[in-house]
Amino acid sequence: MAFADVILPLAVPGRFTFRIPTGSDVRPGMRVAVPFGRGGKLYGGLVRGVHEDAPATAAREILSVIDEAPIVTEEQFLLWERIAEHYLCTLGEVMIAALPGQLTLSSETRIIVNPFIADEPRRADRSGALIDALVEREALSMKEAGELLGLKDPMPAIKRLIDEGVVIVEEELREAWKPRTVTYVKLSAAAQSEEALHQWFDRLEKKAPKQLHLLMRYVELSRCMSDAPFEVEKNKLLHLSNSSPAALKPLVEKGLFELYEREAGVPAPAALGKDAPRLSAAQAEALSNVREGLRTKEVALLRGVTSSGKTELYTTLIDEAVHDGGQVLYLLPEIALTAQIIERLRARFGERIAVYHSRMAPHERAALWMRMARGESAPPIIVGARSALFLPYKDLRLVVVDEEHDPSYKQHEPAPRYHARDMAIVLASLHRAKTLLGSATPSLESRYNAQSGKYAYAELLTRYGDVAMPAISIVDLRDAARRKQMRGHFSQPLIDAIDAALKKREQAILFQNRRGYVPVWQCESCAWVPHCDHCDVSLTYHKKLHQLRCHYCGRTYPPPTQCGQCGSNRLRMIGFGTEKVEEELAEVFPEARIARMDQDTVRGRQALDRILTGFAQGAIDILVGTQMVTKGLDFDQVSTVGILSADSLMRFPDFRAHERAFQLMAQVAGRSGRRDKPGNVIIQAYEARHPILDLVVRHDVEGFHQRELEHRRAHGYPPFMRVLALSLKHRSEERVAAAAGDLATVLRERLGERVLGPDIPAVAWVKDRHLRNLLVKLRRSAHHEEKLFVRECIDRVFAQPEHRAVQLMADVDPM
Ligand code: ADP
Ligand code: ZN
Ligand code: ZN
Repeated sequence: MAFADVILPLAVPGRFTFRIPTGSDVRPGMRVAVPFGRGGKLYGGLVRGVHEDAPATAAREILSVIDEAPIVTEEQFLLWERIAEHYLCTLGEVMIAALPGQLTLSSETRIIVNPFIADEPRRADRSGALIDALVEREALSMKEAGELLGLKDPMPAIKRLIDEGVVIVEEELREAWKPRTVTYVKLSAAAQSEEALHQWFDRLEKKAPKQLHLLMRYVELSRCMSDAPFEVEKNKLLHLSNSSPAALKPLVEKGLFELYEREAGVPAPAALGKDAPRLSAAQAEALSNVREGLRTKEVALLRGVTSSGKTELYTTLIDEAVHDGGQVLYLLPEIALTAQIIERLRARFGERIAVYHSRMAPHERAALWMRMARGESAPPIIVGARSALFLPYKDLRLVVVDEEHDPSYKQHEPAPRYHARDMAIVLASLHRAKTLLGSATPSLESRYNAQSGKYAYAELLTRYGDVAMPAISIVDLRDAARRKQMRGHFSQPLIDAIDAALKKREQAILFQNRRGYVPVWQCESCAWVPHCDHCDVSLTYHKKLHQLRCHYCGRTYPPPTQCGQCGSNRLRMIGFGTEKVEEELAEVFPEARIARMDQDTVRGRQALDRILTGFAQGAIDILVGTQMVTKGLDFDQVSTVGILSADSLMRFPDFRAHERAFQLMAQVAGRSGRRDKPGNVIIQAYEARHPILDLVVRHDVEGFHQRELEHRRAHGYPPFMRVLALSLKHRSEERVAAAAGDLATVLRERLGERVLGPDIPAVAWVKDRHLRNLLVKLRRSAHHEEKLFVRECIDRVFAQPEHRAVQLMADVDPM
């Protein structure tokens, strides 16, 4: 008799063996419908292996085989297993994260009629009745669909309907990725000849000087834009010619200009398939160092300063890898903020690129997966955020991890809490592909691996076109306050710098790492601050909505009118967030057009696009934001960057605080002074002499790395040790404390002083649950073995009845 080991889309640990019905074709990588648990619920599990070893207890039988051919490859399974092992989670959890929602089926799966297809003629068979029911009731669970179809196991039938695109699996409603469109201006066909243009000039010169000015700017701009001749973005034209839409309108009506829209990121047809750029001497040298390094090593780290042209190096290598049929994965930390990179890659590679990320329409993700799994022609270059790791690659040759230091590569919730950069390296090795990590501010882990010879290392230390690195200066806030030189939260040098930029029609970015208006209200007499009723944190004031909000659980409260402790009505605000900065800025620069970019203003994707487009086109002069503004924004007109309070970055209570602070400051500084404008960066700080600031000012990435590595070595932190964070949660503080205490005791039996805690975290009560944290340091050379020991300890402690209800979260390599 034959058996199949099946992975179920559930968080339960263990492997599950089912009997294969005689005569059915069951191979690894196919989905099968199997009953699981006492309720007899159905799951679409994935066959991991087929064998003849009967399990000890009687195995239940597979009800049906869902796929005709495997949809998951051996390499994918191996990657999943590495993830489950390294990050202490179950294979089922990895399966849920990896497989597009459309391909994960269970009794509970809810199906709906595909809203993307037009009405079909009614089907005569039972599926017709099912579709009628779906139309009427909107959604049905797999179980209900089974009852309607009169099938005990409806999965194969439903799967066929999914394949045909008639129904889709209902997924958590996400805001779908809608491409934004940009309006362009070009000369109408009749106006394109030299002679016609002259006539227009003559006509406008006498009657309409403003329109003439607009036309002249258009001619200038369209000449210098070699990729897309005669085409200029409408808003850019209006901004750079200082014209109003009223000046453009008659020119369109009279037939001089044409307006049209195109999806942003899709280049004009003429610009597609752009030739390879000519690399500068410095770029060519760095590229040759990368190539040389990758001849012998699996991974290369490229440190290239901001605006050095790392992307051009990546594209050259990508081009080579796909030249003879290979595949490439290009990973980005956040898709939403990197439209510009995708645009550049599209210009170069056109249709050979597919974008893959969790905000795409669900059926499109599934469709790309299936094309790749079947080996049908799919684009060879996948650009994506971390979930793109999980696609069924067949001939992967190169993985590029852009901005490899970015903490967004780590998944926080739910498990698997994996680091996409680290797993990209595993993925590449499974395919014998090479990995290129790139950053202006590499992570200490990667820098250390390069230093110890595990990775190859190359540097690109000049900006493209020999543009100077931005000039960074520090403003001592203590001193400025003493001399009464502050206006709100702005020092005079910062105000002067912004002023100078605005006068030259250049743009500025201001970075403040807290959102909201003023984080907290405080009683002047007794120092009371309002707290969330369900979490142990003070509430943040959001002025626009005039409410207090908990940034941990999202609850909102009306602002207090009097102190909750002493009843005094003298309340004042302390601290400041982006919303406050925006407001103060408007007072200092009443003429400037200001926008804010943080989690509050970019809830929806469209809002983010509006801000980015507005800034790119010059409709915004100053952009204020949280760390979002440090990422992937390359705008030519930004000359000035202000960091409002460096102290709050450096004081974060975490061993990575200095690394983060350095990276954030260096990255946001790098947003200034691209192309021909020299950049000017002002950092405000109370602790103006902090050594980290000095390293930022000197652009001394290498100096920072060596200083911080020494520190990490001395205190036994990554990259010298691996860290495993354990977080325990329960409604009762006593119970969570007891469980954490017992766990620490058991862990210490073998790991001794390498177990830190249990600690009461700074925010110790979230969503009505008390928290306790433990930190375990694992030796790099023995982390597998030590993790097994940790797993045993966890099993042992949580098997005790009094601890069973305590929730545990394990985070390996926390960020
Ligand atoms: P990085 O990613 O290192 O910050 P980019 O790749 O964005 O730098 O390059 C900065 C700017 O210089 C971009 O506008 C890019 O188009 C331009 N650039 C870089 N290298 C070249 C090249 N070899 N030829 C033409 N333009 C280049
Ligand atoms: Zn709360
Ligand atoms: Zn009070």
